[in-house]
Amino acid sequence: MSLHIPFDNSYATLPAGFYTRLDPTPVKRADVLAWNAPLAAELGIEGTDPSVFAGTTVPDGAAPLAQLYAGHQFGNYNPQLGDGRAILLGEVIDQTGQRRDIQLKGSGPTPYSRMGDGRAWLGPVLREYVVSEAMHALGIPTTRALAAVATGEPVYREQGALPGAVLTRIAASHLRVGTFQIFAHRGQIDELRTLTDYAIARHHPDADGPMGLLKAVCAAQSELVASWMSVGFIHGVMNTDNCTISGETIDYGPCAFMDAYHEGRVFSSIDQMGRYAFGNQPRIAVWNMAQLATALIQLFDDKERAVEDATAIVHAMPGQLSMAWLRRFGAKIGLSAPTADDQPLIEDLLTLMQTDGADFTNTFAHLHTDQARDQFTDRDAFDAWAARWRARSPDMALMKRKNPQIIPRNHRIEAMIEAAVAGDMAPFERLMTALSTPFDLPADLDDLRRPPTDAEIVPATFCGT
Ligand code: AMP
Ligand code: MG
Repeated sequence: MSLHIPFDNSYATLPAGFYTRLDPTPVKRADVLAWNAPLAAELGIEGTDPSVFAGTTVPDGAAPLAQLYAGHQFGNYNPQLGDGRAILLGEVIDQTGQRRDIQLKGSGPTPYSRMGDGRAWLGPVLREYVVSEAMHALGIPTTRALAAVATGEPVYREQGALPGAVLTRIAASHLRVGTFQIFAHRGQIDELRTLTDYAIARHHPDADGPMGLLKAVCAAQSELVASWMSVGFIHGVMNTDNCTISGETIDYGPCAFMDAYHEGRVFSSIDQMGRYAFGNQPRIAVWNMAQLATALIQLFDDKERAVEDATAIVHAMPGQLSMAWLRRFGAKIGLSAPTADDQPLIEDLLTLMQTDGADFTNTFAHLHTDQARDQFTDRDAFDAWAARWRARSPDMALMKRKNPQIIPRNHRIEAMIEAAVAGDMAPFERLMTALSTPFDLPADLDDLRRPPTDAEIVPATFCGT
């Protein structure tokens, strides 16, 4: 089959210590379950060849490699992680002039696999496909999904033998906080400097040196986490190796969107302490930036001065996050220019929602109608809030633009995966159609807005990826 990918690789030209050159591991079959044609066009990819997206054939112009990185996992430093089941095929310059990574995930073992098999099963592959594309349609910076291909090989997990799959992930880059950490912790200052220059050129060309880069990443992460909060998204594994320099969302392992609002909501079965709970995400983003700062400080001779500068930048981040949060939640209740005085109005609504277990998405989506009231058991309390809110003359058109009618609900994702495992991709297609226009849902897909019944609730998501 004919396939042309206009590769233009830069990471492969960095020093050898940044990665291991390695081809993906061939698999038995290559059944295309999903193909993102508009994204392929955006990337300048012509034709297709399933065996490439299964990892069996290496396409012309690729320079396959597994990237090296480290990271803090649940607060503990792991001195070496790396792509344990991913291979970067290379990069392309897209139609808008942006450099994008093309990576296979689940493409076989690498020197960084540790105890893992280097594989992925169909469930997490389709989950990432659906959720990352939904995030994109919601206007949230994210890696994208180009293809999902079934390998015809079993993958063994706690549940037993499961169908294997490979995801093709597109990213602005796969540079993480952990990519900086590994060189800083090893005292490889030349590599750290090379990486810093590379990251600035690729993502934040206006940044002035390492401190400028830190500032730019803090700003990008502040916007990102505020945008997650505004749609009720819980990432689930905000480890520093899952925190990008570009400001894109990455690694949709045990992530989930909330149904009923609760600030302390956790889905990930491995997050026993609730470190990455919904309401903790801003604090964790700041903590992650403190780790980036710690790495970048190693580049300076005058450490005392560097610590002072970096501290000031990281300490400014909670304020940036609050501003980004206020702007987004203000818009959700129809205020185009919210001020600090509007903060209690927003917080009081969230408190009512939490007390009454109101559905996050549907409350905001219905706020401009009388139906929002139905989300609350204490109607008097809601009416009192609504009277204060109406006094602020909310812009209903703004609310319709900013509040999605649909998010990928967990019970729908689980049902979609179950069907796909049984060979039925219709629920996947239907979900993808609905999620592609989240602010303007066709009437025949209206059932997908419904929160889970008690029996349908998915209490936890598993990292068993
Ligand atoms: P994650 O929690 O998915 O970000 O992964 C953390 C680390 O574990 C990364 O280095 C991954 O490459 C590695 N990893 C996760 N799953 C596997 C697997 N099945 N085989 C090999 N490495 C894996
Ligand atoms: Mg990861």
